[in-house]
Amino acid sequence: MKKNPLKKKPRLNFIQKIVLQDLKNKKCNNIQTRFPPEPNGFLHIGHAKSMHLNFGIAKKYNGICNLRFDDTNPKKENSQYIDIIKSNIKWLGFKWKKIYFTSQKFEKIYQYALILIKKNLAYVDQLSKDDIKKYRGTLQQPGKNSPFRNQTIEENLILFEKMKSGHFSEGSACLRAKIDMKSPFIIMRDPVLYRIMFVKHHQTKKKWCIYPLYDFSHCISDALEGVTHSLCTLEFQENRKLYNWILENIESINKPMQYEYSRLNLEYSILSKRKLSVLVQKKIVSGWDDPRMPTISGLKKRGFTPNSIQDFCRRIGFTKKEHYIELDLLENCIRNDLNKNTPRTMAIINPLKLIISNMSEDYKENIFIPYHPKESSMGINRITLSKEIYIDQSDFSENSIPGYKRLVLGKTVKLRYSFVIKAIEIKKDKNKKIDTVICIYKKNKLQNKEKVEKFNGIIHWISKEDIFPAKFFLYDRIFNVKFPELKKDFLNYINNKSLIIKNGFINKNILKNKNFNTYQFEREGYFFLNENKINSKKLIFNRIVSLKKKWKK
Ligand code: ATP
Ligand code: MG
Repeated sequence: MKKNPLKKKPRLNFIQKIVLQDLKNKKCNNIQTRFPPEPNGFLHIGHAKSMHLNFGIAKKYNGICNLRFDDTNPKKENSQYIDIIKSNIKWLGFKWKKIYFTSQKFEKIYQYALILIKKNLAYVDQLSKDDIKKYRGTLQQPGKNSPFRNQTIEENLILFEKMKSGHFSEGSACLRAKIDMKSPFIIMRDPVLYRIMFVKHHQTKKKWCIYPLYDFSHCISDALEGVTHSLCTLEFQENRKLYNWILENIESINKPMQYEYSRLNLEYSILSKRKLSVLVQKKIVSGWDDPRMPTISGLKKRGFTPNSIQDFCRRIGFTKKEHYIELDLLENCIRNDLNKNTPRTMAIINPLKLIISNMSEDYKENIFIPYHPKESSMGINRITLSKEIYIDQSDFSENSIPGYKRLVLGKTVKLRYSFVIKAIEIKKDKNKKIDTVICIYKKNKLQNKEKVEKFNGIIHWISKEDIFPAKFFLYDRIFNVKFPELKKDFLNYINNKSLIIKNGFINKNILKNKNFNTYQFEREGYFFLNENKINSKKLIFNRIVSLKKKWKK
């Protein structure tokens, strides 16, 4: 029997092993992690991976995980993102112990900068940005000392005070660590610790015009909060040297350990807030929460469940290997979750009228169908068969097509849950488009099961009695290449068919059950009722994902 890859037993990942070892060796008593988003955009599915790790480790080993807003760049940040981030985290089911803001520690971080200056381990540089870059050297060439590197401690203290009091213009001075311009690790070539920005901060308002850089503030925040394991993505591997250098030299008692894992890369997607924000600004999507976006808000609006996202994070695992995850995996996770508890019903996305000519005008037959084949508690739906019904345009063909298992003129097909019908005539409109298909049904033969005529296939339908108008938003991948993130100009690879809107019908009876908001429309996929539009005359359904078994076209 083929093994189901979705049923693998989870083993400890390399970070869980490290944590376990650290606990055994009494390197720490309690585990403390943090999830440190910068409030400069919406969270995306890559952040879900990070949360899954940070909150997951804390939970597994009875520790705590705090939420920390890493808000050191007011030029890019916005307090609106803070509320969204909090609600996304809650929606996914994670619980933080405390909320911190790096900005709450600006005074302390500033004091640590003074300590480094006093230890002659930091200096104010007045080289231009370009010159700092030039002096830094390359991987092949060592860097060069800045002419400002040998200022005295007193001079540096005065200059830093001047930076703080707004004496210098933006970019004309910065505070740098004094480490080693010849270090083989570029990050250690006198990295910048503080820069000037005359920007009002969403938390500290106009109090500061100098702001610490990520590398300086992150390790200090970790240490001050009591983080034991500072987990981050691989691009910070080299920064670990600086992380440890700073904690060593500010003589921090608490020394968190930084460990890196590979970031999530997803096929047909980009997971960089900077690039995602371009899609929003250029109005390629309707916003950060557009159902095509890989953001948590987008996925939620599309109809993904917290369960499916958690499951996805579990399956992708945590390693140090950089690779791309197939979009299929994410789609399988949501199918898997919805399959268990989603009501099934028939809906028609591209309606085509069908008249059963040998049925009387007043014929009405109620058919009762359980909403779910296994979950009887979900109840039973009633559908009606009558003379006028609607099928999907793609389920009818005037001419035979090899392998086509649907209705063809002159041939038979079975209506799901009902009779076999035969198409005998078509009516076209003035544009020569098929307007109506005339059929006959074969009731008698069907009653005698032995004699059932062979039919071509089974198709779904809704009778005129049951229809309720609906718009279907058919979402697809937003990029038409597998690795848009690797493309120089990713905007050239937008899939302009990533949203197709169709006007069709749902079965009105399903609306009686107010508990349902996600449906499996048979043969079409899983759909989510767009809640904002619930009161308008036409309901909107987002296609979350198609069904695995797609009918071949
Ligand atoms: P982006 O590149 O999208 O702007 P970021 O790293 O700047 O991401 P932060 O808000 O700083 O975004 O991220 C918070 C945490 O989430 C960090 O610890 C970061 O390493 C982690 N993270 C961000 N993107 C991913 C990803 N794609 N996969 C796994 N973890 C991620
Ligand atoms: Mg970041």
